[in-house]
Amino acid sequence: MLMNEERKQIVEYGRKLFQSGLCKGTAGNISVFDRESGLMAISPSGIDYMDIKVDDIVIMNTSGKVVEGNCKPSSEYNMHLAVYDTSDAAAIVHAHSMYCTTFACMNQPIKAIHYGIASAHTHLIPVVPYATYGSLELAEMVKASMKDYTGLALLLANHGIITWGNSLAQAYNVCENAELCAEIMWRCQCAGQAVILSESEINKVINKFENYGQAAAEKKGY
Ligand code: 13P
Ligand code: ZN
Repeated sequence: MLMNEERKQIVEYGRKLFQSGLCKGTAGNISVFDRESGLMAISPSGIDYMDIKVDDIVIMNTSGKVVEGNCKPSSEYNMHLAVYDTSDAAAIVHAHSMYCTTFACMNQPIKAIHYGIASAHTHLIPVVPYATYGSLELAEMVKASMKDYTGLALLLANHGIITWGNSLAQAYNVCENAELCAEIMWRCQCAGQAVILSESEINKVINKFENYGQAAAEKKGY
């Protein structure tokens, strides 16, 4: 079976997404990309995260052709391919997490309300204009929003969030931290006036995260 390790990771992180509450039902999707072979392993469309098995993961090439797998791939495979084409990402998480999606529905970016936003390598998570889920248009919009953008996360208007990184651990971590920032931003807006950190303060944190935790261990950001 092609990409056995990546398949296992997708099953594992799908469960994490569901159990952490970042994804409900079958919303969201996950992929891992192997640049050497040009193959992407992606979650199947519309299967509950707790039911997804290693065999259900679909392997596709960069033209969007299924190379191995019996299931229908995630309807967002074009969006995932667009991110791999435009960045050096190795893994992607797409979620409809509550607070990120709340701001996405207001078409408002997530600001530097908390230093944890630095895990997304940006001081501001912008909003990609709305396009129908699973459409080529959405993939093109994501691609356009990534031009001159060095962050690892984008909100999708009236839809959710997409995050990426050099591992699934990192993409998941960015998703988790974006959700934390969005929830804090929501709470601050409910309670009063929040103080937003400057871009230069966030840049300091981005650099500091390079050595966060057990620095020699696999780099997974904050
Ligand atoms: P899939 O189940 O096809 O991956 O779709 C879920 C989703 O979030 C669409 O945007
Ligand atoms: Zn979605």
